[in-house]
Amino acid sequence: MTTPDHPVEHHVLNPATEELLATVPSTTAAEVDAAVVRAAAAQRTWAALAPADRARLLRRFATAVDGEAEQLARLEVQEAGHTLGNARWEAANVRDLLDYAAGGVERLAGRQIPVPGGLDITLLEPLGVIGVIAPWNFPMPIAAWGLAPALAAGNAVLLKPAETTPLTALRLARLALDAGLPDHLLQVLPGAGDVTGNALVEHPGVAKIVFTGSTRVGKQIMAKCADRVKRLTLELGGKSPNIVFADADIEAAAAAAPMAFLDNAGQDCCARTRILVQRSAYDRFLELLAPAIESVVVGDPLDENTRMGPLISRAQLERVRSYVPEDATALSGKAPEGPGFWFPPTVLTDARPDSPVATEEVFGPVAVVLPFEDEADAVRLANATQYGLAGSIWTRDVGRALRVSQSVRAGNLSVNSHSSVRYWTPFGGYEQSGLGRELGPDALAAFTETKNVFISTEA
Ligand code: NAD
Repeated sequence: MTTPDHPVEHHVLNPATEELLATVPSTTAAEVDAAVVRAAAAQRTWAALAPADRARLLRRFATAVDGEAEQLARLEVQEAGHTLGNARWEAANVRDLLDYAAGGVERLAGRQIPVPGGLDITLLEPLGVIGVIAPWNFPMPIAAWGLAPALAAGNAVLLKPAETTPLTALRLARLALDAGLPDHLLQVLPGAGDVTGNALVEHPGVAKIVFTGSTRVGKQIMAKCADRVKRLTLELGGKSPNIVFADADIEAAAAAAPMAFLDNAGQDCCARTRILVQRSAYDRFLELLAPAIESVVVGDPLDENTRMGPLISRAQLERVRSYVPEDATALSGKAPEGPGFWFPPTVLTDARPDSPVATEEVFGPVAVVLPFEDEADAVRLANATQYGLAGSIWTRDVGRALRVSQSVRAGNLSVNSHSSVRYWTPFGGYEQSGLGRELGPDALAAFTETKNVFISTEA
């Protein structure tokens, strides 16, 4: 229900300038009901198509995205403040996800299992209508992580973008129609989380929720899904370590550390915001890190030289500010003054390991650097968190790289690199970072129900 407390429309601002870009009407619970009915009918049509035809239509959707990649990227820059380079990667990622998922449609095979007295086969059936609830930090790719495999597995999708970033999602739904996907198969329902999002979560006609966002909201959604045993994937927060051993290439580790937490102004669930450095290399690392932080170009996201843009909103700016004590000792970069939600790159060098800035997800361009003694100490510190999404290990010792990879409890680790997200490989969190996995070769299977059928040969 829409109540007077909930706006019937959302103002979309450019976070770099605070200029009003659009006013987007909010979807009421009654409108969600109607969308579910339309989606269920479209899903039946879609699932009845030959797999090759569904694959072809998804490839056409990918081609349509490719044809508008630059416009989509610029829309992402405008509404989310992403740098142009990042936004171009994101539009291309949506295209690639659709192509990759299309390749799975004709390979989504069940199994034939040897049993006595007959033949046993498994069928992978679509779940029906999927609710994808996306956050504002990577509006386009995260929407596509859910919608591409869900559609490929024969489902319909209702996508609820974040209040602050609905524009690219609305554009993607238009491109799906242009590509020839059935009407209402992919619908975008902008609106408030606790109205539109909640209506999807509670709706009996929605078979699965794919939620990416904060751990707090994820827990609430999980509790509501439990009531109906509704299928659920959660991609939640993180507080990822960047572990630098003294035997690493310290120059390379220090050069890479800034963008490992400053990409997307730190509004990245995989941001390596706990930089853990072996004590014997600590001073040298900080000497190299200081100029690397200072040299990060923060500013107009449309300028091709910019490495970091603004935060998404004033509320986020205030939240980030609240984590940095006035008297903190820090390495800092520069940020523009004037309109826009700017915060400079900041690395606290005197934070206590148990302080909020060292343990909570700040979701801004703020990291802490902490020393450790040896391998066991590094693993202990890395795991001293409620989260377990990502992490990096810098060392030249291959045995240590493997041992530490096996000991750090997180879903996505990288050695001598900070890369976490590739559409070919599974992505997701341990502990309170999430539930289930997205992307990778098994992405489509997460949108199916397995049915076992036994056929007697003795009748
Ligand atoms: P958020 O949890 O406030 O909102 C996420 C989405 O959920 C939005 O679309 C919002 O409208 C909706 N929502 C809010 N309340 C709801 C409710 N009661 N019922 C249904 N839907 C509701 O998070 P955010 O501030 O938009 O995003 C930032 C968070 O997302 C960070 O904590 C970040 O770590 C996390 N995140 C995680 C991943 C991952 O893959 N693990 C990726 C990106 C972001």
